[in-house]
Amino acid sequence: MLRFAPSPTGDMHVGNLRVAIFNYLVAKQTNDKLLIRIEDTDKERNIEGKDKEILALLDLFGIKYDQVVYQSGNFHIHQQMAKQLLDKGKAFVCFCDEEELNKEREKAKKEKRPYRYSGKCENLSSKEVEKLIKEKKPFVIRIKKPESDIEFNDEIKGEFKFSPFDVDSFVILRNDYTPTYNFACAVDDMLYDISLVIRGEDHLSNTPKQIHIRKSLGYDKDIKYAHLPIILNEEGKKLSKREKHASVKWLLEEGFMPEAIANYLILLGNSFEKEVFTLDEAVEFFDLKKVSRAPAKFDIEKLKFLNKEHMKKIDNLAEYLGYHPQYEELLKIFRDESATLKEIKEKFEAVFEKAKDDEYKNEREIIKKEILENELEDNYDDFKKRVMKNTGLKGKKLFMPLRELFINQKHGAEIKDLYQAMKSYLKEVVKTR
Ligand code: GLU
Repeated sequence: MLRFAPSPTGDMHVGNLRVAIFNYLVAKQTNDKLLIRIEDTDKERNIEGKDKEILALLDLFGIKYDQVVYQSGNFHIHQQMAKQLLDKGKAFVCFCDEEELNKEREKAKKEKRPYRYSGKCENLSSKEVEKLIKEKKPFVIRIKKPESDIEFNDEIKGEFKFSPFDVDSFVILRNDYTPTYNFACAVDDMLYDISLVIRGEDHLSNTPKQIHIRKSLGYDKDIKYAHLPIILNEEGKKLSKREKHASVKWLLEEGFMPEAIANYLILLGNSFEKEVFTLDEAVEFFDLKKVSRAPAKFDIEKLKFLNKEHMKKIDNLAEYLGYHPQYEELLKIFRDESATLKEIKEKFEAVFEKAKDDEYKNEREIIKKEILENELEDNYDDFKKRVMKNTGLKGKKLFMPLRELFINQKHGAEIKDLYQAMKSYLKEVVKTR
């Protein structure tokens, strides 16, 4: 089984979505199941409703999954497992309080060395432990650091080796008995028989900890890992969650199609013979092992190019955008000159608004009268001849106000094409100007 494990602590960003997509592709290729695990272990950071939002986004992108679980539903199992580790002598009760630990952290910082747990509580006798628990002294549970190096081979990034010092004796159960991220994650990957973990590179340093947890629990089955390189912004720095185009919601609101976003994220850090494809087409040729090890740069221009390509594939554009079918031809004209759905909509909606520019107001009034008082010709050239003759206008003074009357813009599509597309409702439009 594969899994996508989002935390319901914020908006889904492109990095998360890419992880979801890659998991989906591999699950399809290997005929495996895909589990969605909502990692809601951190009560304070959870945001109400984010879980539903994430699931709705997965549906929107066509990422089908087999099961959804909430990590908090397994707390009782995490607690049992922590107890098992205590009983086996692989974990210990730790009474060090935050103040004490912070002092040690600061000291390490001053001495310019990485902070590690002092080991103070590791050798408390069971009598001492019992006594402190009776006194109601708060405690956490820490796993003992490994005795030897933890090694693994990442499917994308290659070989890794972490020393016991790197792994450290870290907290697995907090003082409110909730599991830490690493503990819940490692145990759940074991419980759901996960075969391959695909996730962001920011979790690389967690991997030896999670492997160590499972080893300590006596779980021998090997779980493979693939850590995806980070996504960089246009300046070459890590694309932060706070940058607007990192948010999937923002991209959708800006009028990027889910198909184009998925296409773009699959292409990022990859190269294939074709550039434009759907999620399900990518199942045929995607190769996790060939994903580049180097960070990939987010390029909004490339995304716009792909969006244009996917917009071309929409058959019933008016229906897709929620407009009356009579506007299909006009919408298609706008599509040819737009990079996003939002741009098409803005151009279309402007058609029904009052004139926004007065440079050609007089000419507009003259032509407006001419249009409203006469029958419209079938053919644009006949229409143009008549308007020129009756108004005496030509060149810029004819075409600019004419285009404004049609679509409320001085520049843009060919008037001839607009005329053909809009003829049946042109008078209604012209009236609004
Ligand atoms: N919940 C983690 C995150 O959203 C993912 C953890 C994992 O995939 O192991 O970053």
